[in-house]
Amino acid sequence: MGIIRKHTSFFSILLLSAGAASAADRKFTVVIDPGHGGPDTGAIHKQVGDVNLTEKHFTLLLGKDLARELVIRGHKVALTRTDDREVLLSDRTALANKMRADVFISIHMNSSSDTVRSGGVETFILNHATDDTSKRLADLENAVLKGSQVNVASGSNHVSLIMKDLILDSNLTPSKELACSVQARIKHAATDRGVKQALFYVLLGTDMPSILIESGFMNLKEDRDRILYRQSRMTLAAEIAAAVDDYRLKRTPKKCRIRSEKQFIRKEEPTPRPKDRI
Ligand SMILES: [Zn+2]
Repeated sequence: MGIIRKHTSFFSILLLSAGAASAADRKFTVVIDPGHGGPDTGAIHKQVGDVNLTEKHFTLLLGKDLARELVIRGHKVALTRTDDREVLLSDRTALANKMRADVFISIHMNSSSDTVRSGGVETFILNHATDDTSKRLADLENAVLKGSQVNVASGSNHVSLIMKDLILDSNLTPSKELACSVQARIKHAATDRGVKQALFYVLLGTDMPSILIESGFMNLKEDRDRILYRQSRMTLAAEIAAAVDDYRLKRTPKKCRIRSEKQFIRKEEPTPRPKDRI
């Protein structure tokens, strides 16, 4: 099945802003998407004799700190969730499209059974140059694109698919620049695992430059602690926020190698990804 699921009540949005914005001085707008929520826990770290730690908790912690850092920098910020609730992928991207956000940042945590080769932060951009993607674009048409700029502009499903493809193409380079900026800054706070390309539904649904940050490994104490301890979490959030400004001010790194999904395998994931995310 695709991502079309029974519509749930719309999520609450935390809208943070350093001040009232007028049309004349539109603020740089960032939508932050803390991954998972509610019954969708994401990756789980089982602790002996203690409660399990869940990815959804980590993504929310970092997402809120990142929001705060960006607001301090004068930007307009919205979070797709501010508490432990399920939010459809289509609602996450619809929020970003409706707000006409400048960038969309989805936050997740990695997990691996290979403790030797895991550790650190990596940023993904969408690889949409595959046949699979084209097929999934059609699935998205009735869900994710609902209410987006594409449908409003075209009014036709066929035309809107073509439009969507063009939007994805035009967003590829800025998405790379944003991802490369994030990883260049990450070096100061964590191990840099580089920029990678993969097919993520949540990135497919957005109309603006979008990235997905895997902000550490649930199976590694060092990575968990970086998020659980306020000081190191705020440092990480501050570096990501600084990277957003690097991107905004076109100070993106000149050299940045991007690995495609063919060059790495996500086989180490302990649990299969939800049907609505690849
Ligand atoms: Zn995740």
